[in-house]
Amino acid sequence: MQVFHHIQSIREALGVDRLAGKRIGFVPTMGNLHSAHIELVKIAQQSCDIVVCSIFVNPLQFGLNEDWDKYPRTFDADTNKLREVGCDYVFYPSEQEIYPNGMAEQTRVVVPTMIDVLCGASRPGHFEGVTTVVSKLFNIVQPDEAVFGLKDFQQLAVIRRMVEDLCMPVDIIAGPIFRAEDGLALSSRNGFITAAERPQVTVLNQSLQQALTHIEAGRRDFAELELEAVATIEQAGFKVDYVNICNSRTLTPAADDDTDITALGAMYTESARLIDNISLELT
Ligand code: AMP
Repeated sequence: MQVFHHIQSIREALGVDRLAGKRIGFVPTMGNLHSAHIELVKIAQQSCDIVVCSIFVNPLQFGLNEDWDKYPRTFDADTNKLREVGCDYVFYPSEQEIYPNGMAEQTRVVVPTMIDVLCGASRPGHFEGVTTVVSKLFNIVQPDEAVFGLKDFQQLAVIRRMVEDLCMPVDIIAGPIFRAEDGLALSSRNGFITAAERPQVTVLNQSLQQALTHIEAGRRDFAELELEAVATIEQAGFKVDYVNICNSRTLTPAADDDTDITALGAMYTESARLIDNISLELT
């Protein structure tokens, strides 16, 4: 496994692979890798000859009061895991390499509307930071396919939209949500959950599941179902950011005749913000 710090050197290596006709897969991450990230690498390996994983804690997608400085950085452990799974290349650039002109001067990529709801409503500028850095990384790696996890459902929808709107020649592959045994979605931020909170945090997943069970049984009073989920989470002692039941494709509020529905939620523990979602296809 080779580790690259510079755009030019990874481009040179990938140029040789591309000329040799190799299919290139890409898994962008912010590091602190857990088994979900590794599963995404395995998904890319199924259809690609060369898999690149990037590790970059992108400052452009963090708000001023968010946890960029606290975000866990575990490069040595990350590269060990990637080596073990047989990842080919790691791209680990500095902030200077990605934003040589500074963040304020950086050209931005903005997907309108979809970024103003759900996580975008409470994290202004977040998705603009994501689409900007993902565009840059796509231009650097020029992958045939890129794998993203469904855990970040809105991120995946926004990236699909960006790729479609800007005619980017990349296949976007969705990986499933990988969870702990009790249903908690794996996340780098789970390390911020205290031992006392840990048994309770599954309430986020359970409340979304409860809402979908009611929808499957025929209920369509989505606003009421959202309020019930919020109440369940609050009863467990957590502050709710949002619970929304949406059309899975557009992320607009679900309508009575929608067949693809996703319940999405975000809540705060003492020192983490956790997100989750569950999708339902009605036939
Ligand atoms: P991050 O390092 O948090 O930016 O995540 C990098 C990629 O891993 C993104 O595509 C995430 O959606 C994905 N990911 C993180 N946690 C999970 C999970 N529990 N299940 C599936 N994908 C995940």
